[in-house]
Amino acid sequence: MKDILSMLPEEILADFREKGFPAFRAKQVSQWLAKGVSSFDEMKNLPLELRTRLAEEYSLYRPEVLRKQVSAKDGTIKYLWGLSDGNAVETVVMKYRYGNTVCISTQVGCRQGCAFCASTIGGLVRQMEPSEMLNEVLFSQKDSGETISHVVLMGTGEPLDNFDNVMRFLRLLNHPEVFNLSLRHVSLSTCGIIERFDDLAQQDLQLTLAVSLHAPDDETRSRLMPANRGRGVDALMKACRDYTEKTGRRVSFEYAMIDGVNDTLPHAKLLVERARSVGAHVNLIPLNHVEESRYGPSTQGHMKAFIKVLEDSGVNYTVRRRLGGDIDASCGQLRRKFEKSREK
Ligand code: SAH
Repeated sequence: MKDILSMLPEEILADFREKGFPAFRAKQVSQWLAKGVSSFDEMKNLPLELRTRLAEEYSLYRPEVLRKQVSAKDGTIKYLWGLSDGNAVETVVMKYRYGNTVCISTQVGCRQGCAFCASTIGGLVRQMEPSEMLNEVLFSQKDSGETISHVVLMGTGEPLDNFDNVMRFLRLLNHPEVFNLSLRHVSLSTCGIIERFDDLAQQDLQLTLAVSLHAPDDETRSRLMPANRGRGVDALMKACRDYTEKTGRRVSFEYAMIDGVNDTLPHAKLLVERARSVGAHVNLIPLNHVEESRYGPSTQGHMKAFIKVLEDSGVNYTVRRRLGGDIDASCGQLRRKFEKSREK
């Protein structure tokens, strides 16, 4: 059975033509799907016979809310969605002044092994389908009643390690008859799978490429992020410059400040050099502590000194606010707790 939610409206139309279903029905079906119906039976303007046929030809799966947590502090909402095969993924809705941002997962688990990240602890379980990523956005909006204006691919998983499905998801998200979101409002975050940067540039999308740098030198970065081993920061910088040259779009660096690991003044100075060499914007984030990890967030004092180096250098930077701190709203921690409670 074909997964109809992973199909673009024009593909549904082509399929309907092939199967001899009336073409105008394809449009009706796409409209219902975009509304978030959970079965063909809910498509009330279709004849019963067609609805039955469609249910035989296509699968249509919607996630269920396994857990939902709302931050009392800032209204951040965290969902744990149950998928059709019993796996679970998390999605976070954050409220910013410029609009509501949904942070979605792109894989069930992750194989990148970053030392500070909870998403990677159980390894990669499987790739997520385009429909599953779309459902994260659609159902976060539907359940929360909040209009989603921005999407960040910064939940569990490495988007460039699920390239084709992520690209198809982005086309669905952007499609006027599906979610109609401008890709200028989308950030794709990567630990630096540089072999894929060219492929991404060729897609000619308007999105922002966010690179999880977290350390400006190979020694520190390879210790924290296995993805750096055998690639290296120099090669990563070159890949970023090439990307910007090809797309005309500035990349941004994510930098999680980790106590005593990447937060010294020499790190700050080298980070400035790296950012200048690429023309990158720097996003500083205090590390979220993960139960299983020995790393903790930088002290206020270290952060201040680090920020001053950036400030004095004239490099573009922002310090990200911490949202949802009271609800495990980061980096695979809710799913991790759920998996642990299932193991018991
Ligand atoms: N795999 C992609 C996207 C998912 S992670 C990537 O690596 O970019 C999204 C962001 O959260 C990355 O910048 C990641 O390094 C960061 N992150 C992971 N664990 C974190 C933690 N405990 N505290 C702060 N940021 C974390």
